[in-house]
Amino acid sequence: MKSIILNKNISRRVELGHPWIFGNEVNRGKLLDASPQPGEIVTVLTHDKNFIGRGYTNPQSQIMVRLLTRDKDETIDETFFLHRIRKAWDYRKQIGYTENCRLVFGEADDLPQLIIDKFNDYFVIQTLALGIDVWKPAIVKAIEQIFSPKGIYERNDVPVRELEGMQQQKGFLSAEFDTNIIINENGFKLHVDIANGQKTGFFLDQQDNRKAIQHIVKGADVLGAFSYTGSFEIAAAFFGARKVTGLDISQSAIDMCNKNAALNGLEEKCEFICVNAFDVLKNWTKEGRQWDVVMLDPPSFTKSRSSIDKAITGYKEINLRGMKLVKPGGFLVTSSCTNLVQPELFLDTIYAAAKDAKRKLRQVVFNAQSPDHPIIRGQEYTHYLKFLIVQVL
Ligand code: SAH
Repeated sequence: MKSIILNKNISRRVELGHPWIFGNEVNRGKLLDASPQPGEIVTVLTHDKNFIGRGYTNPQSQIMVRLLTRDKDETIDETFFLHRIRKAWDYRKQIGYTENCRLVFGEADDLPQLIIDKFNDYFVIQTLALGIDVWKPAIVKAIEQIFSPKGIYERNDVPVRELEGMQQQKGFLSAEFDTNIIINENGFKLHVDIANGQKTGFFLDQQDNRKAIQHIVKGADVLGAFSYTGSFEIAAAFFGARKVTGLDISQSAIDMCNKNAALNGLEEKCEFICVNAFDVLKNWTKEGRQWDVVMLDPPSFTKSRSSIDKAITGYKEINLRGMKLVKPGGFLVTSSCTNLVQPELFLDTIYAAAKDAKRKLRQVVFNAQSPDHPIIRGQEYTHYLKFLIVQVL
Protein backbone atom coordinates (compact mmCIF):
# COMPACT_ATOMS: atom_id res chain seq x y z
CA MET A 1 0.00 0.00 0.00
CA LYS A 2 1.20 3.48 -0.84
CA SER A 3 1.95 5.93 1.93
CA ILE A 4 1.42 9.64 2.24
CA ILE A 5 3.71 11.56 4.54
CA LEU A 6 2.44 14.64 6.29
CA ASN A 7 4.35 17.85 6.72
CA LYS A 8 6.16 18.28 10.00
CA ASN A 9 3.71 20.85 11.32
CA ILE A 10 0.63 18.76 10.74
CA SER A 11 -2.37 20.43 12.17
CA ARG A 12 -3.59 19.40 15.60
CA ARG A 13 -6.96 18.94 13.91
CA VAL A 14 -5.89 15.60 12.40
CA GLU A 15 -4.20 14.46 15.62
CA LEU A 16 -7.36 15.26 17.54
CA GLY A 17 -9.47 13.02 15.35
CA HIS A 18 -10.55 15.04 12.32
CA PRO A 19 -10.65 12.67 9.33
CA TRP A 20 -9.68 15.14 6.58
CA ILE A 21 -6.19 15.78 5.29
CA PHE A 22 -5.78 18.75 2.99
CA GLY A 23 -3.38 18.88 0.07
CA ASN A 24 -1.20 21.50 1.78
CA GLU A 25 -0.67 19.23 4.79
CA VAL A 26 1.04 16.59 2.67
CA ASN A 27 4.74 16.44 1.98
CA ARG A 28 4.66 16.85 -1.81
CA GLY A 29 8.15 15.49 -2.44
CA LYS A 30 7.36 12.24 -0.69
CA LEU A 31 3.94 12.09 -2.30
CA LEU A 32 5.35 12.13 -5.82
CA ASP A 33 7.26 8.92 -5.06
CA ALA A 34 4.03 7.25 -4.08
CA SER A 35 1.70 8.79 -6.70
CA PRO A 36 -1.56 7.27 -5.49
CA GLN A 37 -4.41 6.94 -7.95
CA PRO A 38 -7.67 8.82 -7.39
CA GLY A 39 -9.80 6.74 -5.03
CA GLU A 40 -6.94 4.53 -3.86
CA ILE A 41 -6.52 3.51 -0.22
CA VAL A 42 -3.33 4.93 1.30
CA THR A 43 -1.55 4.83 4.63
CA VAL A 44 -0.97 8.23 6.24
CA LEU A 45 2.20 8.75 8.26
CA THR A 46 3.63 11.63 10.26
CA HIS A 47 6.85 13.22 8.98
CA ASP A 48 8.79 10.82 11.23
CA LYS A 49 6.89 7.81 9.87
CA ASN A 50 4.46 7.20 12.70
CA PHE A 51 1.18 5.65 11.64
CA ILE A 52 -1.80 8.03 11.65
CA GLY A 53 -4.40 6.10 9.75
CA ARG A 54 -5.61 4.70 6.51
CA GLY A 55 -8.01 6.36 4.14
CA TYR A 56 -8.96 7.01 0.58
CA THR A 57 -7.32 9.65 -1.52
CA ASN A 58 -8.33 11.91 -4.34
CA PRO A 59 -5.49 14.14 -5.49
CA GLN A 60 -8.09 16.03 -7.56
CA SER A 61 -9.93 17.16 -4.44
CA GLN A 62 -8.85 19.86 -1.98
CA ILE A 63 -9.27 17.24 0.70
CA MET A 64 -6.57 14.86 -0.39
CA VAL A 65 -7.27 12.06 2.07
CA ARG A 66 -10.31 11.12 4.10
CA LEU A 67 -9.40 8.72 6.86
CA LEU A 68 -11.39 5.52 7.32
CA THR A 69 -9.46 4.02 10.20
CA ARG A 70 -6.81 4.85 12.77
CA ASP A 71 -6.26 1.22 13.61
CA LYS A 72 -3.03 -0.09 12.14
CA ASP A 73 -4.36 -3.63 12.05
CA GLU A 74 -7.55 -2.79 10.18
CA THR A 75 -7.53 -3.40 6.43
CA ILE A 76 -10.00 -1.68 4.16
CA ASP A 77 -11.93 -4.41 2.40
CA GLU A 78 -15.50 -5.71 2.06
CA THR A 79 -15.53 -6.92 5.65
CA PHE A 80 -14.50 -3.48 6.87
CA PHE A 81 -17.67 -1.97 5.31
CA LEU A 82 -19.84 -4.76 6.71
CA HIS A 83 -18.47 -4.09 10.21
CA ARG A 84 -18.79 -0.33 9.98
CA ILE A 85 -22.38 -0.41 8.70
CA ARG A 86 -23.32 -2.99 11.32
CA LYS A 87 -21.79 -0.74 13.99
CA ALA A 88 -23.79 2.23 12.70
CA TRP A 89 -26.96 0.13 12.82
CA ASP A 90 -26.23 -1.08 16.36
CA TYR A 91 -25.86 2.56 17.41
CA ARG A 92 -29.20 3.53 15.83
CA LYS A 93 -30.88 0.65 17.64
CA GLN A 94 -29.26 1.68 20.93
CA ILE A 95 -30.63 5.20 20.67
CA GLY A 96 -34.04 4.07 19.45
CA TYR A 97 -34.07 4.82 15.71
CA THR A 98 -35.10 1.68 13.91
CA GLU A 99 -37.92 1.99 11.39
CA ASN A 100 -36.67 5.10 9.61
CA CYS A 101 -33.27 6.56 10.27
CA ARG A 102 -30.12 7.95 8.81
CA LEU A 103 -28.24 4.70 9.10
CA VAL A 104 -24.90 6.18 8.09
CA PHE A 105 -24.08 9.87 8.47
CA GLY A 106 -20.72 10.07 6.70
CA GLU A 107 -17.81 11.27 8.82
CA ALA A 108 -19.86 10.99 12.02
CA ASP A 109 -19.98 7.23 11.45
CA ASP A 110 -16.36 6.99 10.32
CA LEU A 111 -17.50 6.41 6.75
CA PRO A 112 -16.61 9.75 5.13
CA GLN A 113 -18.98 10.99 2.43
CA LEU A 114 -21.29 7.98 2.68
CA ILE A 115 -24.96 8.61 3.41
CA ILE A 116 -27.43 5.78 3.90
CA ASP A 117 -31.04 6.53 4.77
CA LYS A 118 -33.27 3.69 5.89
CA PHE A 119 -36.98 4.00 5.18
CA ASN A 120 -38.35 0.84 6.79
CA ASP A 121 -37.32 -1.92 4.32
CA TYR A 122 -35.89 0.45 1.71
CA PHE A 123 -32.43 2.01 1.61
CA VAL A 124 -31.22 5.09 -0.21
CA ILE A 125 -27.51 5.70 -0.55
CA GLN A 126 -25.26 8.57 -1.59
CA THR A 127 -21.53 8.16 -2.24
CA LEU A 128 -20.27 11.71 -2.45
CA ALA A 129 -16.53 11.15 -2.91
CA LEU A 130 -14.70 8.99 -5.42
CA GLY A 131 -12.89 7.01 -2.74
CA ILE A 132 -16.16 5.86 -1.19
CA ASP A 133 -17.94 5.43 -4.52
CA VAL A 134 -15.54 2.67 -5.56
CA TRP A 135 -16.77 0.66 -2.55
CA LYS A 136 -20.42 0.83 -3.59
CA PRO A 137 -20.63 -2.93 -4.35
CA ALA A 138 -19.28 -3.73 -0.85
CA ILE A 139 -21.73 -1.26 0.72
CA VAL A 140 -24.70 -2.75 -1.14
CA LYS A 141 -23.59 -6.25 -0.18
CA ALA A 142 -23.36 -5.23 3.48
CA ILE A 143 -26.88 -3.74 3.43
CA GLU A 144 -28.19 -6.93 1.83
CA GLN A 145 -26.46 -9.07 4.41
CA ILE A 146 -27.63 -7.11 7.45
CA PHE A 147 -31.17 -6.20 6.41
CA SER A 148 -32.39 -8.40 3.52
CA PRO A 149 -33.99 -5.19 2.19
CA LYS A 150 -36.92 -4.83 -0.21
CA GLY A 151 -34.96 -2.32 -2.23
CA ILE A 152 -31.81 -0.21 -2.49
CA TYR A 153 -31.65 3.00 -4.52
CA GLU A 154 -28.80 5.35 -5.36
CA ARG A 155 -29.44 9.12 -5.18
CA ASN A 156 -26.13 10.34 -6.50
CA ASP A 157 -27.76 13.13 -8.49
CA VAL A 158 -25.76 15.64 -6.46
CA PRO A 159 -23.52 18.38 -7.96
CA VAL A 160 -20.79 17.87 -5.33
CA ARG A 161 -19.84 14.62 -7.10
CA GLU A 162 -18.58 16.62 -10.07
CA LEU A 163 -15.94 18.29 -7.87
CA GLU A 164 -14.64 14.77 -7.27
CA GLY A 165 -14.51 14.04 -10.99
CA MET A 166 -17.63 11.86 -10.93
CA GLN A 167 -20.92 12.00 -12.78
CA GLN A 168 -24.29 12.64 -11.24
CA GLN A 169 -26.46 9.54 -11.40
CA LYS A 170 -29.42 7.80 -9.79
CA GLY A 171 -31.05 4.40 -10.07
CA PHE A 172 -31.62 0.97 -8.59
CA LEU A 173 -28.86 -0.89 -6.80
CA SER A 174 -31.18 -3.84 -6.23
CA ALA A 175 -33.98 -5.40 -8.27
CA GLU A 176 -36.41 -2.67 -9.35
CA PHE A 177 -39.18 -1.74 -6.93
CA ASP A 178 -41.94 0.85 -6.60
CA THR A 179 -40.04 3.92 -5.41
CA ASN A 180 -43.18 5.57 -4.01
CA ILE A 181 -43.28 4.18 -0.52
CA ILE A 182 -45.12 5.00 2.71
CA ILE A 183 -43.38 5.46 6.04
CA ASN A 184 -44.71 5.82 9.60
CA GLU A 185 -43.50 8.74 11.66
CA ASN A 186 -44.65 9.93 15.07
CA GLY A 187 -47.97 8.13 14.66
CA PHE A 188 -48.89 9.40 11.20
CA LYS A 189 -48.00 8.24 7.69
CA LEU A 190 -46.14 9.95 4.88
CA HIS A 191 -45.56 9.22 1.22
CA VAL A 192 -41.88 9.25 0.28
CA ASP A 193 -40.77 9.47 -3.34
CA ILE A 194 -37.36 7.86 -3.19
CA ALA A 195 -36.50 8.42 -6.86
CA ASN A 196 -37.65 12.03 -7.32
CA GLY A 197 -37.97 13.60 -3.87
CA GLN A 198 -35.40 16.10 -2.61
CA LYS A 199 -32.04 14.70 -1.43
CA THR A 200 -32.75 11.06 -0.50
CA GLY A 201 -36.50 11.65 -0.82
CA PHE A 202 -37.35 12.81 2.68
CA PHE A 203 -35.93 14.97 5.50
CA LEU A 204 -35.46 12.46 8.29
CA ASP A 205 -33.40 15.02 10.21
CA GLN A 206 -36.54 16.84 11.42
CA GLN A 207 -38.19 13.67 12.73
CA ASP A 208 -37.98 14.60 16.42
CA ASN A 209 -38.58 18.28 15.76
CA ARG A 210 -41.90 17.48 14.10
CA LYS A 211 -42.86 15.81 17.36
CA ALA A 212 -41.66 18.82 19.36
CA ILE A 213 -44.59 20.89 18.06
CA GLN A 214 -47.20 18.52 19.48
CA HIS A 215 -48.31 20.63 22.46
CA ILE A 216 -48.24 24.11 20.96
CA VAL A 217 -50.45 23.23 17.97
CA LYS A 218 -53.43 21.88 19.92
CA GLY A 219 -56.55 23.74 18.79
CA ALA A 220 -54.34 26.24 16.94
CA ASP A 221 -54.54 27.92 13.56
CA VAL A 222 -51.18 27.04 12.00
CA LEU A 223 -49.30 28.48 9.05
CA GLY A 224 -46.37 26.51 7.62
CA ALA A 225 -44.06 27.88 4.91
CA PHE A 226 -41.64 25.81 2.81
CA SER A 227 -43.76 22.71 3.35
CA TYR A 228 -42.09 20.37 0.81
CA THR A 229 -44.20 17.20 1.31
CA GLY A 230 -46.08 18.74 4.23
CA SER A 231 -44.45 16.74 6.99
CA PHE A 232 -44.63 19.56 9.58
CA GLU A 233 -48.13 20.54 8.48
CA ILE A 234 -49.42 16.95 8.66
CA ALA A 235 -47.79 16.67 12.09
CA ALA A 236 -49.58 19.84 13.23
CA ALA A 237 -52.95 18.59 11.97
CA PHE A 238 -52.33 15.15 13.46
CA PHE A 239 -51.41 16.64 16.86
CA GLY A 240 -54.68 18.56 17.01
CA ALA A 241 -54.39 21.87 15.16
CA ARG A 242 -57.75 23.41 14.24
CA LYS A 243 -56.68 24.51 10.76
CA VAL A 244 -53.37 24.25 8.90
CA THR A 245 -52.23 26.24 5.87
CA GLY A 246 -49.05 25.15 4.08
CA LEU A 247 -47.06 27.00 1.41
CA ASP A 248 -44.53 25.82 -1.14
CA ILE A 249 -43.29 27.21 -4.43
CA SER A 250 -43.26 23.82 -6.13
CA GLN A 251 -46.50 22.38 -7.51
CA SER A 252 -45.21 18.81 -7.22
CA ALA A 253 -44.46 19.46 -3.54
CA ILE A 254 -48.00 20.81 -3.04
CA ASP A 255 -49.46 17.72 -4.77
CA MET A 256 -47.50 15.56 -2.35
CA CYS A 257 -48.75 17.64 0.63
CA ASN A 258 -52.34 16.99 -0.45
CA LYS A 259 -51.63 13.29 -0.91
CA ASN A 260 -50.15 13.13 2.58
CA ALA A 261 -53.12 14.95 4.12
CA ALA A 262 -55.49 12.47 2.43
CA LEU A 263 -53.36 9.51 3.53
CA ASN A 264 -54.00 10.52 7.14
CA GLY A 265 -57.64 11.57 6.71
CA LEU A 266 -56.63 15.15 7.57
CA GLU A 267 -57.62 16.86 4.30
CA GLU A 268 -60.51 18.74 5.95
CA LYS A 269 -58.12 20.58 8.25
CA CYS A 270 -55.33 21.16 5.72
CA GLU A 271 -54.98 23.61 2.88
CA PHE A 272 -51.85 23.81 0.72
CA ILE A 273 -51.07 26.69 -1.62
CA CYS A 274 -48.45 26.88 -4.37
CA VAL A 275 -46.88 30.33 -3.92
CA ASN A 276 -43.66 32.17 -3.32
CA ALA A 277 -43.61 32.28 0.47
CA PHE A 278 -41.46 35.41 0.61
CA ASP A 279 -44.05 37.44 -1.30
CA VAL A 280 -47.06 35.98 0.44
CA LEU A 281 -45.69 36.41 3.95
CA LYS A 282 -44.91 40.03 3.13
CA ASN A 283 -48.42 40.67 1.81
CA TRP A 284 -50.10 38.95 4.71
CA THR A 285 -48.00 40.99 7.15
CA LYS A 286 -49.24 44.18 5.45
CA GLU A 287 -52.80 42.91 5.68
CA GLY A 288 -52.31 42.29 9.42
CA ARG A 289 -53.20 38.60 9.25
CA GLN A 290 -52.09 36.49 12.23
CA TRP A 291 -51.85 32.83 13.27
CA ASP A 292 -51.40 31.00 16.58
CA VAL A 293 -48.38 29.15 15.24
CA VAL A 294 -46.13 30.00 12.28
CA MET A 295 -43.62 27.39 11.07
CA LEU A 296 -40.71 28.16 8.73
CA ASP A 297 -38.34 25.60 7.22
CA PRO A 298 -36.64 27.38 4.31
CA PRO A 299 -33.99 25.84 2.06
CA SER A 300 -30.41 26.74 3.01
CA PHE A 301 -29.80 30.29 1.87
CA THR A 302 -26.15 29.55 1.21
CA LYS A 303 -23.87 26.80 0.08
CA SER A 304 -20.63 28.74 0.38
CA ARG A 305 -18.77 30.60 3.07
CA SER A 306 -18.55 33.69 0.92
CA SER A 307 -22.30 34.26 1.04
CA ILE A 308 -22.93 33.77 4.77
CA ASP A 309 -23.87 37.45 5.09
CA LYS A 310 -26.48 37.02 2.37
CA ALA A 311 -27.83 33.96 4.17
CA ILE A 312 -28.08 35.85 7.46
CA THR A 313 -30.01 38.63 5.72
CA GLY A 314 -32.34 35.97 4.26
CA TYR A 315 -32.93 34.27 7.62
CA LYS A 316 -33.51 37.59 9.33
CA GLU A 317 -35.97 38.77 6.71
CA ILE A 318 -38.06 35.59 6.60
CA ASN A 319 -38.15 35.29 10.38
CA LEU A 320 -39.08 38.93 10.77
CA ARG A 321 -42.04 38.35 8.48
CA GLY A 322 -42.90 35.09 10.21
CA MET A 323 -42.84 36.70 13.66
CA LYS A 324 -45.13 39.52 12.64
CA LEU A 325 -47.67 36.91 11.57
CA VAL A 326 -47.77 35.37 15.06
CA LYS A 327 -50.54 36.46 17.43
CA PRO A 328 -49.22 37.83 20.75
CA GLY A 329 -48.50 34.76 22.91
CA GLY A 330 -48.39 32.46 19.88
CA PHE A 331 -45.39 30.49 18.67
CA LEU A 332 -42.78 30.71 15.93
CA VAL A 333 -41.23 27.41 14.85
CA THR A 334 -38.15 28.06 12.75
CA SER A 335 -35.28 26.08 11.23
CA SER A 336 -32.01 26.55 9.41
CA CYS A 337 -30.39 23.64 7.62
CA THR A 338 -26.97 24.98 6.69
CA ASN A 339 -23.88 24.16 8.73
CA LEU A 340 -22.40 27.47 7.59
CA VAL A 341 -24.66 29.30 10.03
CA GLN A 342 -23.71 27.92 13.42
CA PRO A 343 -26.25 27.80 16.29
CA GLU A 344 -25.22 30.99 18.12
CA LEU A 345 -25.28 33.01 14.93
CA PHE A 346 -28.72 31.64 14.09
CA LEU A 347 -30.06 32.62 17.53
CA ASP A 348 -28.50 36.09 17.21
CA THR A 349 -30.25 36.49 13.87
CA ILE A 350 -33.65 35.50 15.25
CA TYR A 351 -33.26 37.87 18.21
CA ALA A 352 -32.20 40.68 15.87
CA ALA A 353 -35.39 40.07 13.87
CA ALA A 354 -37.42 40.20 17.11
CA LYS A 355 -35.85 43.54 17.95
CA ASP A 356 -36.90 44.93 14.57
CA ALA A 357 -40.37 43.45 14.96
CA LYS A 358 -40.56 44.94 18.47
CA ARG A 359 -41.54 41.55 19.84
CA LYS A 360 -40.16 39.75 22.88
CA LEU A 361 -39.25 36.08 22.54
CA ARG A 362 -39.36 33.28 25.07
CA GLN A 363 -37.33 30.24 24.07
CA VAL A 364 -39.23 26.95 24.26
CA VAL A 365 -36.97 24.52 22.42
CA PHE A 366 -33.60 24.82 20.68
CA ASN A 367 -32.63 21.58 18.99
CA ALA A 368 -30.34 20.25 16.32
CA GLN A 369 -31.14 17.44 13.90
CA SER A 370 -32.38 14.11 15.26
CA PRO A 371 -29.68 12.04 17.00
CA ASP A 372 -29.53 9.46 14.21
CA HIS A 373 -27.45 12.21 12.53
CA PRO A 374 -24.75 12.34 15.23
CA ILE A 375 -22.86 15.52 16.00
CA ILE A 376 -19.11 15.23 16.44
CA ARG A 377 -17.39 18.02 18.32
CA GLY A 378 -14.59 19.57 16.28
CA GLN A 379 -16.37 18.69 13.02
CA GLU A 380 -18.76 21.61 12.78
CA TYR A 381 -20.34 20.43 9.52
CA THR A 382 -21.96 17.56 11.49
CA HIS A 383 -24.01 20.12 13.46
CA TYR A 384 -25.96 21.60 10.61
CA LEU A 385 -29.61 21.83 11.60
CA LYS A 386 -30.95 24.41 14.00
CA PHE A 387 -34.55 24.10 15.15
CA LEU A 388 -36.07 26.74 17.37
CA ILE A 389 -39.47 27.19 18.96
CA VAL A 390 -40.10 30.54 20.61
CA GLN A 391 -43.17 32.07 22.11
CA VAL A 392 -43.66 35.46 20.50
CA LEU A 393 -44.90 37.91 23.14
N1 SAH B 1 -40.23 21.23 5.93
C1 SAH B 1 -39.82 20.25 4.93
C2 SAH B 1 -38.56 20.58 4.20
C3 SAH B 1 -38.55 21.91 3.46
S1 SAH B 1 -37.38 21.96 2.17
C4 SAH B 1 -39.69 18.89 5.60
O1 SAH B 1 -39.45 18.79 6.82
O2 SAH B 1 -39.81 17.89 4.90
C5 SAH B 1 -37.62 23.55 1.51
C6 SAH B 1 -38.83 23.71 0.64
O3 SAH B 1 -38.93 25.11 0.33
C7 SAH B 1 -38.79 23.01 -0.72
O4 SAH B 1 -39.90 22.16 -0.86
C8 SAH B 1 -38.88 24.14 -1.77
O5 SAH B 1 -39.73 23.83 -2.88
C9 SAH B 1 -39.49 25.26 -0.95
N2 SAH B 1 -39.19 26.63 -1.42
C10 SAH B 1 -38.02 27.15 -1.86
N3 SAH B 1 -38.15 28.47 -2.12
C11 SAH B 1 -39.43 28.79 -1.82
C12 SAH B 1 -40.18 30.01 -1.88
N4 SAH B 1 -39.62 31.14 -2.28
N5 SAH B 1 -41.47 29.97 -1.49
C13 SAH B 1 -42.03 28.82 -1.06
N6 SAH B 1 -41.38 27.66 -1.00
C14 SAH B 1 -40.10 27.63 -1.38
